[in-house]
Amino acid sequence: MKQYDLIISGGGMVGATLAAALGQQGMSIAIIEPQLPPLEWPRAEYDIRVSAITRATENMFEKVGAWQKMVEMRVTPYQHMQVWDEGGSGSIHFDSSDLGESNLGHIVENSVIHKALLNRIDELESIEIITPARISELKQHDGFVELMLDNGSRLSAKLLVAADGANSWVRDQVGISTTGWLYDQSAIVATVRTEKSHQFTAWQQFMKLGPLAFLPLDQKELSSIVWSTSPDEADRLSRLDEANFLTELHMAFGDTLGEMQSVGPRGLFPLQLKHANRYCSERVVLVGNAAHAIHPLAGQGLNLGINDVSELSSQIIEARNGNGDWGEYALLRRYERSRKGENVAVMAAMDGFKRLFSNDQPLLKTVRNLGLNIANHAGPLKSHIIRQAMGLK
Ligand SMILES: Cc1cc2nc3c(=O)[nH]c(=O)nc-3n(C[C@H](O)[C@H](O)[C@H](O)COP(=O)(O)OP(=O)(O)OC[C@H]3O[C@@H](n4cnc5c(N)ncnc54)[C@H](O)[C@@H]3O)c2cc1C
Repeated sequence: MKQYDLIISGGGMVGATLAAALGQQGMSIAIIEPQLPPLEWPRAEYDIRVSAITRATENMFEKVGAWQKMVEMRVTPYQHMQVWDEGGSGSIHFDSSDLGESNLGHIVENSVIHKALLNRIDELESIEIITPARISELKQHDGFVELMLDNGSRLSAKLLVAADGANSWVRDQVGISTTGWLYDQSAIVATVRTEKSHQFTAWQQFMKLGPLAFLPLDQKELSSIVWSTSPDEADRLSRLDEANFLTELHMAFGDTLGEMQSVGPRGLFPLQLKHANRYCSERVVLVGNAAHAIHPLAGQGLNLGINDVSELSSQIIEARNGNGDWGEYALLRRYERSRKGENVAVMAAMDGFKRLFSNDQPLLKTVRNLGLNIANHAGPLKSHIIRQAMGLK
């Protein structure tokens, strides 16, 4: 049986960040992952999936030695954010210069984030990626966890980290239940070329069936859209031919970015809220979407996952440096206590926004437009909102 300091199930963006954070401290780590993307990066192609990442996430990527690699591939800073209610009079505008910051955050393609992390992991000798593989059997013992993989190998470690996404196999195996629901919304994502420049602004319009965001990419007429709408409507829109899709997109978004000129492949994601009722069990801990999946309307899911990694990795490193046991239950509970508050608060806020804005009731519409305008003119409140959203606290 091969022994590691730590085993991570799931080598997505969150699992890979944790591996890099601990691997660069010399800890021996196995990542178990059923399907890794190819390592080469075709510059001419834009990934249809992007993430708006906060300063806190950027700092963590920098700390694990992956940020510069992302910058060398492609990241797009944005200086402004404009949010408004369809057909209403309310809007709010954020400008990085009001905060004395050079940008509000970055838009980064998921493939860029993932590849930069995998390249970084490749440089760290103490990390082994076992792929394609899944855990088929998990036994929790006093002091260690023992795993059997579907390729027949057996492994053990003091700690197993579940970073295997919203449908976490590990979470189910250790009997951690979840609370949540499927939203009556799916998100269409795609890369769109527009007539006018995006002005390095993240645009978001709230509509009755869901928000529509245009997130800026490095070319000033190229944006990544996240269009949340009812599942039937999303299905219909995703099947339209290019010309009809562009016409409907233009009608929905209005003329802010001019004509919609072209769209690449479209992806469809059913949206859900799912929160693990506990983040740990004996020798097992959850991070990222395995612990919490949220509505993407303010682009916070990955950021929360990276904050999980930041907290868990510092507690593990502290325990290890003090010759302590980094898999002990008390440490895992400490991690859970320190992360649950922020995760639940952001999840509740996103859920609240989703409900507040998907409602056409006239009084509510008037109140929320008024709220947007008041917030837009309330200097300290506005700064507080944006600093929180940037992960600056
Ligand atoms: C439309 C949309 C837009 C979004 N935009 C943003 C944004 O702008 N900003 C932001 O912060 N967040 C955003 N998010 C959320 C973000 O994408 C997720 O929070 C993030 O991908 C979670 O990463 P993860 O590594 O925890 O999980 P995942 O990305 O789901 O990765 C899980 C990994 O585990 C692997 N796996 C699966 N099953 C197993 C198994 N049985 N054993 C081992 N491994 C397994 C998978 O192959 C994968 O590699 C968005 C989400 C959506 C749907």
